[in-house]
Amino acid sequence: MLKGLTALVTGSSRGIGRAIAIRLAQEGAAVGINYNSNKEAAVEVLNEIQGFGGKAALFPGDVADGPGMAEMTKKIKNEFGGLDILVNNAGVTRDGLLLRMKEEDWQRVIETNLTGVYNCTKAALRYILRSENPSIINISSVVGQMGNAGQSNYAAAKAGIMGFTKSMARELASKGVRVNAVAPGFIETDMTSVLPDRVKEKMLENIPLGRLGKPGDVANLTLFLASPNSKYITGQIINVDGGMVMT
Ligand code: NAP
Repeated sequence: MLKGLTALVTGSSRGIGRAIAIRLAQEGAAVGINYNSNKEAAVEVLNEIQGFGGKAALFPGDVADGPGMAEMTKKIKNEFGGLDILVNNAGVTRDGLLLRMKEEDWQRVIETNLTGVYNCTKAALRYILRSENPSIINISSVVGQMGNAGQSNYAAAKAGIMGFTKSMARELASKGVRVNAVAPGFIETDMTSVLPDRVKEKMLENIPLGRLGKPGDVANLTLFLASPNSKYITGQIINVDGGMVMT
């Protein structure tokens, strides 16, 4: 489905990003695996992709570092000959009630989760604009739609991604570049494994499909949005949340 195309997946050493990188590679894309600090986990993803005959390479870098992302996308272009698909997935949480939230926790989440999307989109666009199948997928969250006590920084960043996605979709439509966002609900990864069981049980009560999501659930939608199968879809926020949010 993606043969001959190159994808960059930010934050793909673990969790949702890892599942997306593997899924895109299974469909024939050459994948740039970006990570911030966890090289060992990133190497595992690389080995898994190469293990089934897929094409991938590692590209470390902090998405909050604009010049670093410009350098990184250039390296991907040099390695694979172009760039067609960008998945802005890298994200962090620094939870806390606002009155106790340190400015550095506010800043780190905004810089990584929102400015990171700006940095990577701007850097990657240089090459994506030359693609025959250009697609950008931003990983937002239901928290950007519903809000969540203790996550004002995270919710602000994820809601910001939605506005950014729609603006970019309008800005780039005439160039044939599609820009969409995925809003996952509660997905089982390292990010959510730290939550106490009582919080998980409470979440479950609000999920009509009656289970937490898996990284693969998000990867399947991302694959669809990356592929020509979704060529008439742009500017959309699509939920993968077991029915948590219905609009
Ligand atoms: P995760 O398991 O904590 O993995 C986060 C990934 O992002 C790791 O690969 C990490 O790299 C990378 N990363 C973090 N900061 C980075 C930076 N500054 N530059 C580059 N990479 C960075 O998280 P996840 O649950 O898979 O979440 C992935 C995305 O989905 C995030 O945007 C998150 O907000 C969103 N999301 C998750 C859920 C959920 O329930 N899990 C729900 C809605 C939305 P290292 O390994 O190097 O640290």
